[in-house]
Amino acid sequence: MTEKLETDYLIIGAGAMGMAFADTLLTDTQASGARIMMVDGHAKPGGHWNDAYPFVTLHQPASFYGVASRELSTGKIDDTGLNKGLCDLSTGSDINSYFDQVMRHTFLPSGRVQYFPMCHYTGTPGSNETFHSITSGKKYEVTVTQKTVDATFLKNSVPSTHTPNFSVGDGVTFMPLNSLPGLTSTPDGYVVIGGGKTGIDACLWLLETGVDPDAICWIVSRDAWMLDRSNTQPAPEFVLKTITTQAAQMEAISAAKDLDDMYDRLEACGYFVRLDKTVCPSMFHGATISPLELDALRTIRNVVRMGHVQNVGQHEITLERGTIPTTPNTVHVDCSATAITNKGTKPIFAGNVITPQFVRSYQPLFSASLIAHAEATLGNDEDLKNKVCGVVPLPDSNEDFVRFTFAAMMNQYTWSTMDELSAWLRGNRLDGFSRAIADIPPGNKEAQAVFKRISAAGAPAVTRLGEFLAQLDEAVA
Ligand SMILES: Cc1cc2nc3c(=O)[nH]c(=O)nc-3n(C[C@H](O)[C@H](O)[C@H](O)COP(=O)(O)OP(=O)(O)OC[C@H]3O[C@@H](n4cnc5c(N)ncnc54)[C@H](O)[C@@H]3O)c2cc1C
Repeated sequence: MTEKLETDYLIIGAGAMGMAFADTLLTDTQASGARIMMVDGHAKPGGHWNDAYPFVTLHQPASFYGVASRELSTGKIDDTGLNKGLCDLSTGSDINSYFDQVMRHTFLPSGRVQYFPMCHYTGTPGSNETFHSITSGKKYEVTVTQKTVDATFLKNSVPSTHTPNFSVGDGVTFMPLNSLPGLTSTPDGYVVIGGGKTGIDACLWLLETGVDPDAICWIVSRDAWMLDRSNTQPAPEFVLKTITTQAAQMEAISAAKDLDDMYDRLEACGYFVRLDKTVCPSMFHGATISPLELDALRTIRNVVRMGHVQNVGQHEITLERGTIPTTPNTVHVDCSATAITNKGTKPIFAGNVITPQFVRSYQPLFSASLIAHAEATLGNDEDLKNKVCGVVPLPDSNEDFVRFTFAAMMNQYTWSTMDELSAWLRGNRLDGFSRAIADIPPGNKEAQAVFKRISAAGAPAVTRLGEFLAQLDEAVA
């Protein structure tokens, strides 16, 4: 027997983006009282954070993560650990508890949100809205009067739930990094497979628990350009450094002779960092790292750059460009999941379906909140909504940095021309920088000098990125 339900907005996925979207929609449709239904396969809201490793933390400050209506940050500056001196980073358990509270204390008491956890959506967004409960098997069919929101589009993948794309022989000690804290005896050593954010987290955790750096072999198939976290601090005491780096970033881009020169200039001005200054990175995923974390990672000397792993055997690991020895008692740590697997894009507003994606670089939850605000306040003008919410495609390679930064800067320009939106941005806690910048007193001469640099270099930087983009498109054609 299928139960029939009705709602105004059906949100598929109660992960971080679905939650941030729902929160702003709830606030912005208070007058009309729009009803929201959320369907999600997990037992609790928060999406992939439910499956995260025990020592996971945000890699960006907590003050611009979460939903707009509720603070996540403690407001503290960390005074211990590898994030010392910088704004706090929430842990995985902080984030899970936070989203649970948002659901229980904000969404459900509003009387306008219905939440179906442990339910699998089986329909086609916008045309056939069906789902069933994983626990009871009960089936549901939903009539949606407004829109369906597909908050599953980015398809996050984490080590505990993904399948590695290489084979693992019998008798090999192999585990996702989630299982590291369960170790009961000291192995011969550790092989960390993956040079992305989870690989970094695994290496740092091992080092922080006292493992000798020489006991770690780190397989890095591609080196990455990374971002220095000390440049992305929203607290007032950091704002001058943040805007100074923004100015330097624009100047570096506008002065660049070619792409390689741009990456070099971005590194020279402190915007980009890399693990090893003698290795040229080819990847850019927006991983953010503190200076102390970078110093710690550089103590690992056995970094293997032989391409992707193909097989892990008891005595040998086969990679694209050679083999390295190992032992059955070495712990092989799987950090090879790509956080976001769907690199494709589609228009965010298309008929009766909304597909949240990034509209600002590095900011998925701000993006979801802004998309909900556009839906609630821009009427039925789909073209305008898509203009305001231009998709910022997720970066993978170095070159993608150009596409991604260009799209983000164009959006920022569009928003600056809209008075209501500019005021909304200043009041939205997820947009930490607009608020911090607006709070700088007009008499602050140092900051005013930096603003002058930003306005002088902003337009030339966009022009230069546009030229690089045209070259990249021409090379592809
Ligand atoms: C280790 C790590 C650290 C990160 N740190 C940061 C950070 O500091 N700052 C930052 O901005 N971003 C960070 N991110 C990026 C992160 O991906 C996003 O912040 C965000 O959590 C993504 O949320 P989401 O809602 O898009 O996806 P998900 O968390 O994957 O949520 C999607 C939900 O949809 C559900 N779902 C999928 N298909 C169905 C179906 N058919 N039926 C029902 N439900 C379904 C899933 O069960 C899931 O609950 C980090 C990511 C990782 C992995």
